[in-house]
Amino acid sequence: MGISIRAVSKSFGDFKAVDNLDLEIASGEFFSMLGPSGSGKTTVLRMIAGFDLPSAGQIFLFDEDVTDKAPFDRDVNTVFQDYALFPHLSVIENVEYGLRVRKINKDERRTRALEALNKVHLGDFANRKPSQLSGGQRQRVALARAIVVEPKILLLDEPLGALDLKLREKMQIELKELQRELGITFIFVTHDQDEALTLSDRIAIFNNGKIEQIGTPQELYEQPASEFVARFVGTANVFEADASQTLFGVNAKCMIRPEQVALGITGTQATVIEAIYLGSTTRLFLDLNGHQVIAEVAAGEAKAYRRGSTVKVTMSKADLVKLS
Ligand code: ADP
Ligand code: MG
Repeated sequence: MGISIRAVSKSFGDFKAVDNLDLEIASGEFFSMLGPSGSGKTTVLRMIAGFDLPSAGQIFLFDEDVTDKAPFDRDVNTVFQDYALFPHLSVIENVEYGLRVRKINKDERRTRALEALNKVHLGDFANRKPSQLSGGQRQRVALARAIVVEPKILLLDEPLGALDLKLREKMQIELKELQRELGITFIFVTHDQDEALTLSDRIAIFNNGKIEQIGTPQELYEQPASEFVARFVGTANVFEADASQTLFGVNAKCMIRPEQVALGITGTQATVIEAIYLGSTTRLFLDLNGHQVIAEVAAGEAKAYRRGSTVKVTMSKADLVKLS
């Protein structure tokens, strides 16, 4: 196993930031930790890196207990959101820095730093200063600086958080390609569900210092275990047990995704309360006998469903997912 976190807790004073966490991450996995701000993601990452010690529990990297080891004794490197580069050093000197600390000789340093810069498509920018780069390019320098020492595990704490949406989407694809090329484990922290779904082999959903659910993007979207996961990953229609009983004859809290709500010429009558234009789709907020139901229709069909109009709704019991 690449990384094994066993019954790890972390308290700050009497506040438990991480609460008895168990987690196994395989070698070579692109693993994401997704959850709202303050849910404990960064704290877990810092304990894997060795910047923070757990209050209880153990951390194993490649079957070795590293719980009490210093950061530089672990095969791990970290890219932070505020990837502070040295402003007075050139790009290549920034990337070489970790190798210099490790007493690698000058020729090898240059070769390896250039290699790392080429991997992030910055080979031509080696002699610039960080101030002469765009935000996205600086982020790539931070990546090159982290991979040049060839860690077995790369930790990334919201590394794309400071970039605008278009650039972030481009960097997401590059990150995924980089991880495939390097073949090392990436542990990626984000509060952005689209980003986690795009990048990850598996995702852990964090809430209040605990993991609510671990799964592939598809598992989390199609089989959320709890209301929290259903609402955090995608949009969900959640029905309490009494509503589920009325609508489906199922006496349990359930959810169904908006795209599974079919509109047509048969079904239960509902009223369109609001229609929100989203570009490729339009989201409809419906009132169905006092229950709010969210549906989604393709852009071309949206005209038929104006605010105030009446529609016929069918929801299949087979699409219902029971929640805890
Ligand atoms: P996330 O990365 O999911 O946003 P963090 O792991 O940074 O969350 O923080 C989890 C909780 O622990 C937060 O409530 C935060 O305020 C608290 N916390 C984190 N670091 C410290 C610290 N050094 N001292 C006190 N509280 C902290
Ligand atoms: Mg954080």
